[in-house]
Amino acid sequence: MFFMKIGLDFDGVIADSHPLKSVIAKQMFGVDIPPDKFFKEYIVEAGLSIDQYKKVKENLYFNDHDISPIKDAPIRISLLLEQGHDIKIITSRTGETLEKAKNLLKKYNLNLPVVGVGYGVSKVPASEGLDVFIDDDIEKLIPLAGVVKHLLLFSSPYKNNKYKDVICVKSWNDIYKYITKI
Ligand SMILES: [Mg+2]
Repeated sequence: MFFMKIGLDFDGVIADSHPLKSVIAKQMFGVDIPPDKFFKEYIVEAGLSIDQYKKVKENLYFNDHDISPIKDAPIRISLLLEQGHDIKIITSRTGETLEKAKNLLKKYNLNLPVVGVGYGVSKVPASEGLDVFIDDDIEKLIPLAGVVKHLLLFSSPYKNNKYKDVICVKSWNDIYKYITKI
């Protein structure tokens, strides 16, 4: 095995942020949307406007919610670091929301470099030179084809991956197995 340069998204890969959207949408607007249904098409159908969805996300990222880590993420990341892999986080968060992510990382006992690229901004420049990148958003992975060799989509069972350049993983155990076999 050789040492790899690994890039990780933060929300939905390390921090289990998305279930909180359900709670906040219910509290703020009284709308019931299951955590795995937060796609633009579905939420509008369920009765949440795009503007309200924006407010839900602002609440999620700007307030000090105690967000749990994704199951097994801290332990598997620590193991990969111990094995000598080089790991950094590349997130859309910037400014205040980036600082909140750093606080959560401290809580998870993870000491990793973090790059905040900004919402709606490509992760390509920050990902140059990486061997592996893991994101839960397929839209972030597609532009990385040809830039990063191993693209892993951290996905729930509801997501269908039709992209040949992207490997689907469903848990941190899957990720660990994949990386240690490269
Ligand atoms: Mg994400």
